[in-house]
Amino acid sequence: MTIQLWSLEGNRQRLDGGAMFGNAPRPLWERWAAPDERNRIELACRAMLVEDEGRYLLFETGIGAFFSPELRDRFGVQEPEHRLLDSLAAIGLTDADIDVVVLSHLHFDHAGGLLAAWQDGEAPRLLFPNARFVVSAAAWERANHPHARDKASFIPALNQLLDSSSRLDLTPPPGPDGTTRSACLGDAYRLHLSDGHTPGLLLTEVPGRHGPVLFPSDLIPGRPWVHTSVSMGYDRYPELLLDEKRRILDQLVERRGRLFFTHDAEAALTTVTRDAQGRYGSTSPKASLAAYTP
Ligand SMILES: [Zn+2]
Repeated sequence: MTIQLWSLEGNRQRLDGGAMFGNAPRPLWERWAAPDERNRIELACRAMLVEDEGRYLLFETGIGAFFSPELRDRFGVQEPEHRLLDSLAAIGLTDADIDVVVLSHLHFDHAGGLLAAWQDGEAPRLLFPNARFVVSAAAWERANHPHARDKASFIPALNQLLDSSSRLDLTPPPGPDGTTRSACLGDAYRLHLSDGHTPGLLLTEVPGRHGPVLFPSDLIPGRPWVHTSVSMGYDRYPELLLDEKRRILDQLVERRGRLFFTHDAEAALTTVTRDAQGRYGSTSPKASLAAYTP
């Protein structure tokens, strides 16, 4: 089995540092991410591309460029063009070459890149015409019936487009070990479920030569959140999230696992560590991956 990974940069965002670090005080988090004059920190919306036996699997699409100029400013999106499409083009691919898109959940900063760039007077349009879209049944349910607390994080028009594409692949609930599989991806890819950030968050393990690469999405969006006590203000169930994070990091340390970060401004991949006191950390950061054998 030959698998290669790429990190693909998408549109960057600047978001309020306080919201990104939940109840952590600013003197702590500003050591990890320097805020600008509006208290915002820089975040990536990075996708992971896997080539597996000639098939292209894309993990998330970032925020993309579907917002109107007014909303783009409100949500701190840095570039008007669809950067993920540019990143694909840089390695000779288009959205039509992608066979599977795995969506950890349908918050707009992870799934907005499924849509074409905003154009005045044009209706939203779904990209990736040949892809199947993998989402957990629980995340799909949440996206279609959100709570008032996270309603603004979903894109109703996107849900309708995915539904009418007939290419949606909802993964079944997890078994006793907390993982499930996707027929589109195959049995080599273990899918963990987590509910702390949003119900049904799907975390994919890509098999590697020495250990897995986990796409933890918003369970661990970047290196600062590897600390088990740090969570985001956007998380729906922070205490549950911290327990889930500890469980998954324990497994990764034992299996020499690595983490691929979607929101870390500088690191795409790191190795997980645990010290003698049981504190987790990350080491050997890689800023980008190109045809990387995991
Ligand atoms: Zn999210």
